[in-house]
Amino acid sequence: MTAAPGMATATVAGPAEQACCRFQQTLRRPVVVSGRGYWSGEANRVELRPASVGSGIVFVRDDLGGLRVPATLSWRVEASSRTNLQAGPATVEMVEHLLSSLAGLGIDCCEVGLTAAELPGLDGSAAAFVDAIEQAGIATLDQRIEPLIVTAPITIAEPGSVARIEAVPPTTSGLTVSYDLNYPGRPIPPQRFETAITPQRYRSELAAARTFLPEEDARRLQAAGRGLTVSTGDLLVFGPDGPIGNTLRWPEECARHKVLDVVGDLALAGRPIWADVRASRSGHRLNAALVAAVLAADRNKPSLPATGGTAKPEGGGDG
Ligand SMILES: [Zn+2]
Repeated sequence: MTAAPGMATATVAGPAEQACCRFQQTLRRPVVVSGRGYWSGEANRVELRPASVGSGIVFVRDDLGGLRVPATLSWRVEASSRTNLQAGPATVEMVEHLLSSLAGLGIDCCEVGLTAAELPGLDGSAAAFVDAIEQAGIATLDQRIEPLIVTAPITIAEPGSVARIEAVPPTTSGLTVSYDLNYPGRPIPPQRFETAITPQRYRSELAAARTFLPEEDARRLQAAGRGLTVSTGDLLVFGPDGPIGNTLRWPEECARHKVLDVVGDLALAGRPIWADVRASRSGHRLNAALVAAVLAADRNKPSLPATGGTAKPEGGGDG
């Protein structure tokens, strides 16, 4: 169960209470993070820049004359093991760790300048992005954020697989994510992690959790010409005896990273999602399907009754 020390446990009564919500936030000044993409090996200079109220998160391909790719679900394209976006000729690859760090720290509006398509892999975590955001500082804008509040359970399940992700109405004023990781026959031990996503908890419990893959997958990628500049020190590669040439930062670092990924993928909603999200073996595709279902449920929700209590229980949606 979720315990949230230091955080008031508020019951969310519904959208009528949205006036309670915080103001939108952006960065105080631009800040740069540079590194190479895991798959392409290409250098990328990522400049996180302040943006105006209501503008959301938008990628800007500085190397392509400023082509813009909004970080929302409409621009997501299917890719294996990562979240990619495309608008016309402009692609942006492996956006999930950066989006996770922005969402985790409550940054709603930011322009992300890039000099290549693929975001830097860094150490496989979101720590460097979090450090950069904190270095830049956070500025408050003059409009409140309107969260997407889940009011009825939504379940997305993979046909013929145990992978699933579900969202139920929130037990806190925000997002709580749990992840159950269990890959039978793989060298990564079963593990689970759950946390309420607040800036403090994101920073201390999730930001430094690194991406991981089994050794056989790493070999397959390199045989296909991907990740040729990446070594076992750059992320967690699991052999039969655990991480190769690396040590875990937490026993359940992989489950923590999966929570980090869920937070990044849910950011494609374009607004904070308030829900308790429970994921089990789900990946980027199922996470995106949940975002689509949450957005659909929000579009279909009945308009608010004047006095409350008479709304029909419709519009939940079931992926
Ligand atoms: Zn990841």
